[in-house]
Amino acid sequence: MTFQPSTAVLPAGAPTDPARHDVVIVGGGAAGLSAAVTLARSLRDVLVIDAGEPRNAPAEGAHNLLGREGIPPLELLATGREEALAYGAQIRRGTVTTARRTDDGFALTLADGDTVTARRLLLATGLVDELPEVPGVRELWGNHVLHCPYCHGYEVRGRRIGVLGTSPNALHQTFLLRQLSADVTLFLHESPEPDDEGWEQLAALGITVVTGRVRELAREGDCLRAVVLEDGHAFPVDAVAVQPRFVARGDLYEQLGGTLTENPMGTHITKDMAGATDLPGVWAAGNAGDLSAMVGASAAQGVMAGAVINSDLVLADLRTAVEARVGA
Ligand SMILES: Cc1cc2nc3c(=O)[nH]c(=O)nc-3n(C[C@H](O)[C@H](O)[C@H](O)COP(=O)(O)OP(=O)(O)OC[C@H]3O[C@@H](n4cnc5c(N)ncnc54)[C@H](O)[C@@H]3O)c2cc1C
Repeated sequence: MTFQPSTAVLPAGAPTDPARHDVVIVGGGAAGLSAAVTLARSLRDVLVIDAGEPRNAPAEGAHNLLGREGIPPLELLATGREEALAYGAQIRRGTVTTARRTDDGFALTLADGDTVTARRLLLATGLVDELPEVPGVRELWGNHVLHCPYCHGYEVRGRRIGVLGTSPNALHQTFLLRQLSADVTLFLHESPEPDDEGWEQLAALGITVVTGRVRELAREGDCLRAVVLEDGHAFPVDAVAVQPRFVARGDLYEQLGGTLTENPMGTHITKDMAGATDLPGVWAAGNAGDLSAMVGASAAQGVMAGAVINSDLVLADLRTAVEARVGA
């Protein structure tokens, strides 16, 4: 069946209180909007609240996305919003600042002071890339400064690529980029010195290693020109790879009593394969609970979480119906 938007489709059992929803989804990126489509297609009353800062906004295109390869990230989300709205989901621009558990669900307060309530909560809040504090990195982030060889490595294939080392992962990232270009330079900067095996591997692949601290990425307008060391030595490059620390936006989860999981890449909400967290009634999808999820994986997690939340509500209502019938 083809996709036929229909604003005539309304959620079943619309609540008498318009501020109370079956599900509130915090975050309207790939994960949140995918969950919204799945839930709205199950005729759930679903509200997405989105602050509008998707992680890949600075990138020109979203890659590794079958059927939508290279689509501008904001265009993808605009289409996703249309699809969710067409099935009856509600979408609201805003930031959820507090979350608390109530007798029968959750109450969320927005930055504008408004409060909404929900039976179930999906956190699709994404993550923040904590970038190295080197001048030029933030300014060129998502364009000439990249982190993921799969997201935008192809776009700099064959070019002069520098790796700005700030973590033990710099070595592995260097090897991945060497697959895409013969001209890769590892700037050790703050990353640990390679061991004997590492030096051997770098030499075998013809990778130049530069010791010493980096002072800045020299720019000309929006273009990257060179990696400049503290001693003033400049190395011309076309792109620089960094290793951000990935920090999930987990404040709402923590307010509800959750404890974030730490791993070598950063911190994230603790969840299982279907998105269930250790907090009853709270699910997570996308980068909030999986630091390495790309757009496709985030969307898939949103669909899965949406399906499981719907199932959870179906079973809860079933229990209530049986109890009511037995008690009648
Ligand atoms: C520069 C860059 C380029 C990338 N390129 C690619 C690529 O080419 N292909 C690919 O597959 N992946 C790419 N990625 C990864 C991609 O960005 C993520 O996989 C994807 O954005 C994760 O989707 P998400 O829905 O989990 O989070 P996001 O897209 O980050 O969306 C989260 C949303 O939640 C909102 N939010 C957060 N907290 C609140 C709150 N309290 N209240 C309301 N709203 C809130 C945010 O504002 C945001 O809109 C790239 C990442 C970066 C950094």
